[in-house]
Amino acid sequence: MSRRSWRPASFSVRFAAVIVVAGAVIASVPLLLTQAGIRAEAQDRALDKVGIALNLVNAQRSALTTFAAGIAQQLHGSGPDPGSQRGVLIADDAHDGSDDVLGVAGADHMAVAVQNGGTLGQGDPDLVALQRAAELDESTVASRTQSWLVASMHDAGSGTTVFVARPLSPAFIGAIDTNLATAADPADLALVSDQGAWLSGTVAGRLAPSGARLAIPPATDRAVVVTLFSVQVALASADLGGGLRVVVTTPVAAVSAPWQPIVLLIALIVIAVCAIVMVVQISVHLPLRRLDRAVAALGRGHFDVPVPLGSRDELGRLAHTFERMRRRLRSTMRAATARAAVATELAAPQPLESALAAVCSELRGTIEADAALVVVGGSDVNRAFAIAAGVREQHLEPLLDEQGPIGAGFGSTSGTALRLGATSASSEAQLGLHEFCVAPLRFGDRRHGVLAVGRRAGGFTSDDEDLVKSSAEQLSLALERHRILAVAQRQATTDDLTGLYNHRFFVDYLEQQVALAERLGTPLSLLMLDIDNFKLLNDTYGHQVGDAALATFAGTVASCVRRSDLAARYGGEEFAVVMANTTSREARLVADKIRAALAGTGVSGVEPSLTITVSIGGAAFPEDTRSARELVRLADTALYQAKREGRNRTSMASDTEVVQTGRAVHHAESRRVSL
Ligand code: GH3
Ligand code: MG
Ligand code: MG
Repeated sequence: MSRRSWRPASFSVRFAAVIVVAGAVIASVPLLLTQAGIRAEAQDRALDKVGIALNLVNAQRSALTTFAAGIAQQLHGSGPDPGSQRGVLIADDAHDGSDDVLGVAGADHMAVAVQNGGTLGQGDPDLVALQRAAELDESTVASRTQSWLVASMHDAGSGTTVFVARPLSPAFIGAIDTNLATAADPADLALVSDQGAWLSGTVAGRLAPSGARLAIPPATDRAVVVTLFSVQVALASADLGGGLRVVVTTPVAAVSAPWQPIVLLIALIVIAVCAIVMVVQISVHLPLRRLDRAVAALGRGHFDVPVPLGSRDELGRLAHTFERMRRRLRSTMRAATARAAVATELAAPQPLESALAAVCSELRGTIEADAALVVVGGSDVNRAFAIAAGVREQHLEPLLDEQGPIGAGFGSTSGTALRLGATSASSEAQLGLHEFCVAPLRFGDRRHGVLAVGRRAGGFTSDDEDLVKSSAEQLSLALERHRILAVAQRQATTDDLTGLYNHRFFVDYLEQQVALAERLGTPLSLLMLDIDNFKLLNDTYGHQVGDAALATFAGTVASCVRRSDLAARYGGEEFAVVMANTTSREARLVADKIRAALAGTGVSGVEPSLTITVSIGGAAFPEDTRSARELVRLADTALYQAKREGRNRTSMASDTEVVQTGRAVHHAESRRVSL
């Protein structure tokens, strides 16, 4: 495997490879040790056996020496005659029954020797070699045809030397080998010369081919392991003297080694390696792969897929940490998204109720709550109302009960969100909502309402609490902004002193109402009212009393008209009333009602005994005109008519000369019309 392809290999593949290599090394150690033991044992055995072989040869030597001594004694009695000497030797040879050469050399170096009942002739090369070895007292000699063990006995008196020589024949070597080896403990014995000529016997199970040579290491007191004829053998040799050596080989492999324990050990190691790989696969690799996949998903921004937790080991703890990180990231991102969505909804050009409904549904989805509610308390610019997601509108009313978590949240002065449980008696619990996270909607000292999210069960986390708190802050800001806008709007359309709509609003409203009446085919009436002798009142009681009189007058007018009618301050001490779906006759009745009410009303708080009167002019659509502008002008003209006729009275346009004649005569004393 190249370095490039090795790197991406999975952890378990690399781990398994390392384990297998380690297992192989561990398994091979006893094998190698056993092999070394086998070799050492074979070497020891070869060394032992060569010692035994040497002892056996030496025993043969001793036997030959004893034999030679016996012959010498017999010859001593028979005298120096070669004939009688041969007779003794032949008798002993017959008795011996082997291939031994029995001989005697005289002082004149003439020798008589017999072997196998026959006499060796003078000049026989074997005899020459043996006679020489005997006279030199050598115990081993190699003649031209054979190697021999030689034992000799000198008779100093007669100057003769008796000798017995035993051929180191294949049979002799084989006989010694038989004493060395068994079938269970085989060994081979061979006779070799110092120059490596293989003379007789067997080596590594082979018989010596004629003229064979062996590369035998020099004799040492240690055996060596060599390969002969493709067989590994332990080899030991011993010097016999006379340029001869005995060599013992024992086969290394033939030694019975304890294979079963080794095979068992290897099998155990293989099983252990398999078990380790399996454990690593199950405990490390698979959890790692699962973790790898989950973390990769996190890396791609998929925060909704949970990280598999697995066991409670180091990997399990790592997975727990990643899971905690995932949840935190998910909740942070959700919270950020929810905050952005809430901000967007609250900034969008839409009615407040729609924005609040969108916020509720966003929070309910993000927090995975069963319900989300915004309750807005009543104020000078709006009445109390509630918006909810997950709760039906008809169930909202009881939730505003002060006793439950929502009521508690509304009354809370805490700057944070609260996690509250609903008691079983509470309205929230009746709806199946038992766990709440609530935050008051406050701006400074102003209490706007409460934001609440509820669950049937399960409670809320601190992350939920943070999101509810930050959403409540945004909502509070939005409600305050809405309130300020409403106040500004009201100030733009109402008159400060009287609280009635101002001139600008009246003009727009009248135009809209005339257009509406036109479309619906319904009547509409306009009354113009001017307080009588108001300048005199100002001059007499001062402007403050005048202002109070104006406020009292406005209150009286507002109380005399329907909610659907509109009362406005036209300017100074002049007022107007627009009455939709009202005829001229009905309008006159309203005008008279106002005058009657005024008669019984003192200037509140300042001059209770002071009453004021008013002159009223009226005009109606479509009886008098179909134009809003003209309606004002006609009502104004009628008002002037009322003033002229003595004040504190009502005059309708239909009573005036202008409408009666149908001519658009602009009255010389007509007042300005600012439409
Ligand atoms: P008439 O019966 O003909 O309507 O007589 P009048 O005195 O009511 O009429 P005039 O138009 O001569 O006087 C109106 C007075 O109303 C003049 C002005 O000082 C007074 N006025 C207008 N606006 C206010 C106001 O806001 N406060 C006070 N105190 N007086 C006002
Ligand atoms: Mg006036
Ligand atoms: Mg006046």
